[in-house]
Amino acid sequence: MNPAPPVEQAPTAIIEQMQALEQTISGCQKCALANGRTHAVPGYGNLHTVVMLVGEGPGFEEDKQGRPFVGRSGQFLTEMLHSVGIRRENVYITNVVKCRPPDNRDPLPDELAACSDYLTHQIALINPRIIVTLGRFSMARWFPGAAITKVHGQVRNIGRGRVALAMFHPAAALRNPQWAIEFKKDLQLLPKLVERAVKANAAALRGEALPAGVPHPGDPDYQPVIAVPPATLPAAASASSASPLEQTDADQLTLF
Ligand code: URA
Ligand code: SF4
Repeated sequence: MNPAPPVEQAPTAIIEQMQALEQTISGCQKCALANGRTHAVPGYGNLHTVVMLVGEGPGFEEDKQGRPFVGRSGQFLTEMLHSVGIRRENVYITNVVKCRPPDNRDPLPDELAACSDYLTHQIALINPRIIVTLGRFSMARWFPGAAITKVHGQVRNIGRGRVALAMFHPAAALRNPQWAIEFKKDLQLLPKLVERAVKANAAALRGEALPAGVPHPGDPDYQPVIAVPPATLPAAASASSASPLEQTDADQLTLF
């Protein structure tokens, strides 16, 4: 059986803060994408999850409904998650821009910049152990300068006990059969990461620090590491690409 993230409720304070953030996003005028939207699409899902998926931006259906990934890409994503034993209700899904770019064009640098703090805030509230990047624009936040054809399927430690898994965008997988194969292959990494994230949270409850993405005791690829100085732990190594809120490992033990 594949592990599923815990179906638990987030604390009321987190729910309320997310609702307030959603309201702010719904009325946001920080970039020109506000002009063409029917609904802003802040994000949707379980706030108590260990997994956050981050796509590009709302499409036609998403703009109409105000929910992320409810069109054809979303159906594919939901089916693919299901195929690795993960239910959509157990994860949180959002995008790097919250309003639909006209004709589904790529988001522009100033739009990405204007919208970036909302994602930072969402990550701080949910505190996911695993961030799955769907497509180039989400990837660029944690894998700057990387080419998706090279970096997809890679797991990177991004600090605060978090890892990022780079994946193709579901729409790209729907267009290109080879990328669909890669998409399925890469997604098969997720259940293991979830299992490790859940173990990391359990360890944190016991007062131990255990990064989310590395092999843990009991895993076949676990290698005991003797006396690693904290500065060289992988969690501290590659935080440079994240925004300031995501850079430190200071609250690695915070749970959700
Ligand atoms: N594509 C995205 O990147 N996000 C959505 O929410 C839907 C389609
Ligand atoms: Fe605001 Fe983001 Fe929508 Fe631009 S895309 S108007 S920054 S919510």
